[in-house]
Amino acid sequence: MRRPPAFTAPFLATLVATFALGACSSTPVARDAPPATAPKTVAAAATPADDNLNAVLWVQRSAEYQAAAETVYRAATARLDAALKDPTWDALVPEERANPARGLPPAVVMDIDETVLDNSPYQARLVRDGSEYNEVTWDAWVREQRAKPVPGVVEFARAAQAKGITVIYISNRAEHLIEPTLANLRAVGLPVKDDSVFLGLGAHVPDCEQEGSEKLCRRQFAGRSYRVLMQFGDQLGDFAQILANTPEARAELQARHRGWFGERWWMLPNPTYGSWEPALFNNNWREPREVRRDTKRKAMDVASP
Ligand SMILES: [Mg+2]
Repeated sequence: MRRPPAFTAPFLATLVATFALGACSSTPVARDAPPATAPKTVAAAATPADDNLNAVLWVQRSAEYQAAAETVYRAATARLDAALKDPTWDALVPEERANPARGLPPAVVMDIDETVLDNSPYQARLVRDGSEYNEVTWDAWVREQRAKPVPGVVEFARAAQAKGITVIYISNRAEHLIEPTLANLRAVGLPVKDDSVFLGLGAHVPDCEQEGSEKLCRRQFAGRSYRVLMQFGDQLGDFAQILANTPEARAELQARHRGWFGERWWMLPNPTYGSWEPALFNNNWREPREVRRDTKRKAMDVASP
């Protein structure tokens, strides 16, 4: 997991002026709100609100998340033989493949965080502490090696391995975290052929200039040695390059490759974080949390009146 670097927002000054703290005066009404006469408890009043509480709980406690993730991996498993048999089947977009895929050994490319490893306990820590992601707390969590597998992934990866398919992990976990990361993957039963199957943030790819957390070079690198049967991720950028992280560009990329999802590309649900969120506030993480929240509230499609 890695948040993209914040960049200068051209309309930042306008944004700050427009969304001053306390500007929102409407009061949302929950669908299942308690009666107005319900007594307020001291504990409820003292519980701080956190935007991520429901999302973390959905991942950790709902049967629906379990079923959704298993659905993805079971469906992908069922498509493996068809992908293997078709020599033209390749999951890299043509502009990211510099060499023919035909004849190369098969592989699947998998993101790690929220695709194969579930980091919701780290997200829960942030909710508990009222804090936000940072590299220090993230590195500490990774070194604990306590992430559990996403439902269904172990069965899928083992099935792929049994068919002679190499599992390659392209992750924005930093390269210096390779040791605890591979140990965590192995501990939960995921196949790790050797260290070369981990392409983390900062991995050197000859003849390709990697920009920030963009995975383009690493996908191309995998494509030099393998026919990529499938890609798995929880972010659109796990599958192809996003030229501009705006809601419009993201929607266009998704629509352009709609036919690949459920065939060559497999998206795991992750409501807890992702590039979709900063796209809503112009990727400006430097904004105070309350200002970002206010901008997000204004991005909602609200039924009227
Ligand atoms: Mg991920």
